[in-house]
Amino acid sequence: MQEFNIPKTGAEFEKNFEQIKPLMNETQAYYESSRCLFCYDAPCISACPTHIDIPLFIRQINSTNVLGAAKTIYDSNYFGFACGKICPTEVLCEGACVYNLQEVKPIEIGRLQSFATSRAIRENKKFYQAGKPNGKKVAILGAGPAGISCACELRQLGYEVEIFEAKEKPSGLTIYGVAPYKITNQEALDEMDYLENMFGYKTKYNSPIKTKEDFNKLEKEYDAIFLAIGLGHTSTLGIKGEDLENCTGAVEFIAELRMNHEKVSVGRKVIVLGGGNTAMDAASESARMGAEEVILAYRRSKEEMGAYNFEYELAKSVGVEGMFNVSPLEITGNGKVEGVKFIKTKTENGKLENIRGSEFIEGCDMVIKATGQMKQTDILKNISGISLDDKGIVIVDRKTHQTSNPKFFSAGDIITGGEEVVNAVADATTAAGCIHSYLNGSL
Ligand code: SF4
Repeated sequence: MQEFNIPKTGAEFEKNFEQIKPLMNETQAYYESSRCLFCYDAPCISACPTHIDIPLFIRQINSTNVLGAAKTIYDSNYFGFACGKICPTEVLCEGACVYNLQEVKPIEIGRLQSFATSRAIRENKKFYQAGKPNGKKVAILGAGPAGISCACELRQLGYEVEIFEAKEKPSGLTIYGVAPYKITNQEALDEMDYLENMFGYKTKYNSPIKTKEDFNKLEKEYDAIFLAIGLGHTSTLGIKGEDLENCTGAVEFIAELRMNHEKVSVGRKVIVLGGGNTAMDAASESARMGAEEVILAYRRSKEEMGAYNFEYELAKSVGVEGMFNVSPLEITGNGKVEGVKFIKTKTENGKLENIRGSEFIEGCDMVIKATGQMKQTDILKNISGISLDDKGIVIVDRKTHQTSNPKFFSAGDIITGGEEVVNAVADATTAAGCIHSYLNGSL
């Protein structure tokens, strides 16, 4: 188990948050690529939501055609570098690699992918260019994986594309929501600069589109609008004490850590509420920020956690302890967090039940709630003719990504409720093609 001191300098922060998938050097990439069996009907390709031709790019790396490999990757996935670093490859391409059947370590596809694409980014290799202007304009709301992927695709088809981003930086979750040991800010932004330079879309930062007037104006000025604004703040639990000092949401905690880590301090004992991948990230990050004790508290059993097993193992490797079948009743404290009052739970006939009389207080001085994100319904309800389901998810035709207002298309977390970056990239690329069909009358 690794132990961490509180990072006091940028260098100490970087050390505590060392990349778990560091970039390969040429020798490592050559050696690793030579292990690939270049399978016929390769299972790794079907396991990738963007269907990158993995054996082809690995073969290209192995024959020293690294830029060719990068192009193969970008042909299928505009976030080729970021996905190599942050995708849960353990359950996608690498999880499907045939080597697993022989209990041999699968090919490190993600690291090979980042190796090849980092070369293209570094050399600013322009594989694509904007198409001949077709006189039509598309507005994209959100500069995250879905918004940027849609922009890249539409630019190649000749559309003028303007992206409106509420925050001050592009790449969405990649920079605001992913743990810093998966990808650095610089790496994420370098890929964004590379894409923006190559495709020539325009991005307006700190420019949220929120009101009815904003949306009406967009509808008048643009031929189509692509909604990719993702999800909002951490959902509230509706229990007493959530407003105490040192009780925060995981999404806000991770964003602050990514943007201003020098301003972030964690408690000596942190309780993270939740059992998803964001909870694992927040728990690991608390340990790496120097918390002496980190407890991950989940209301159901370990087996029922939504998090990938490898994420839980990663959290455990830095000292995080799991506490299962406990449901929070109250966050206790006087002005500041002092503990969490839990009740024990059990599952009876598939239903989660509290065990009467089993309440207890676990002391702590910080609580991080990783209990899901709110939908941005207050914004979405200002779009005329758009339909949301009862959970606040934007309803789209799943094939075309068109909403009930024909001018609006959508992809990413606002239509899925929260998936991986790679799923947003895949869906947004499809959606761009459908916007094109709509605007040329063939949808
Ligand atoms: Fe190579 Fe593994 Fe994919 Fe086969 S399954 S092509 S060995 S990466």
